[in-house]
Amino acid sequence: MIPIAKPFLGEEEAKAAHDTVLSGWVTQGPKVAAFEEQFVEYTRAHHAVAVSSCTTALHLALIAAGVKHGDEVICPSMSFIATANSIVYAGATPVFAEVNDEYNLDVEDVRNRITSKTKAIILVHQVGMPGDIDAFTALCSEKGLALVEDAACAIGCSYKGRKIGSHSPLVAFSLHPRKVITTGDGGMVTTNNEEMAARMKLLRQHGMSVTDRERFASNKPVFEQYVEVGYNYRLTDIQASIGIEQMKKLDTIVEMRRAIAHRYNAELADIPGLKLPIEREGYTSNYQSYSILLGDTVQVDRDELIQMMMDEGVATKRGIMASHREPAYSGSHANCSLPRTEKLCDRSILIPLFTQMTDEEVSTVIAAFKKCLGA
Ligand SMILES: *Cc1c(COP(=O)(O)O)cnc(C)c1O
Repeated sequence: MIPIAKPFLGEEEAKAAHDTVLSGWVTQGPKVAAFEEQFVEYTRAHHAVAVSSCTTALHLALIAAGVKHGDEVICPSMSFIATANSIVYAGATPVFAEVNDEYNLDVEDVRNRITSKTKAIILVHQVGMPGDIDAFTALCSEKGLALVEDAACAIGCSYKGRKIGSHSPLVAFSLHPRKVITTGDGGMVTTNNEEMAARMKLLRQHGMSVTDRERFASNKPVFEQYVEVGYNYRLTDIQASIGIEQMKKLDTIVEMRRAIAHRYNAELADIPGLKLPIEREGYTSNYQSYSILLGDTVQVDRDELIQMMMDEGVATKRGIMASHREPAYSGSHANCSLPRTEKLCDRSILIPLFTQMTDEEVSTVIAAFKKCLGA
């Protein structure tokens, strides 16, 4: 069976983790600091704050953006459920908005959902296709809202010539194995705002005023204070040492993924009724996933297609979920009308795309897909 995704990890990562285990410093310490520095260099943001996941990254980003109990935050329903959950963790209410053809937030629909309670917007760069950051930056400044980018899937992507991570005040990344690079689990927030970076660094470590490294480096006793109620959202040095090796490979990884996507684009183009991913001018995707929308003229049912592909030895998956239809939100959001999201959700399919995929595997996927669609 050809899997839908696979992490791209090698001896370099294994050795780095091995060395860190034996170094005596295993949780947040020098490796985390070095990994953050590498993220700053790569994205050209001013600061990077490593945390335990993208979910916790989003939670801290929302707090840093000033989101509080009773506020509303607009986000797409069509996203992994952690986007909405992070809003609830911050005490606020997610307000779901519609998406466009690239599965990214529709700026006009978002505008219509802004109320006096709206505090922030989470723009998700869905499956590694950047959203229109400039349009949302303009809307947020017009309405006095904070913008948070959910770049869980978007490390290595670019928007208008610059890497995702440097455009807006708060950008959250995931390092889960289903994403483009991984530390097992992990996350990162990049920001150009020094105060926000400091607050998030405080909050990820119980609100503690002195870091372990500072205490370790001091030759006098250091007594810390707990400045506010914080969290344990630390990334470990073991994870960070893996991340450092992954970052060295990132540009190669993105190149390899793009080559596979380009083959899919070329060889699936002649099947009628399919909508393949579109990379607009100024948008560069890392193809975290390859999502195909089955148009109305395609007779086959999406869920049946998944079964048929499985019978051909190829794993596929439903496209991105719709959070408002999950039991966690369907009760509280019963009046939510998102016909476009629901249609995209029911008619899209993800096909295998992973960095080390061979030409032969790509050919197998293409042949199976053509066969199942009778093309
Ligand atoms: C995967 C994902 C997350 C959650 O990332 P974790 O690191 O697993 O917490 C959040 N948002 C989106 C859009 C995702 O795809």
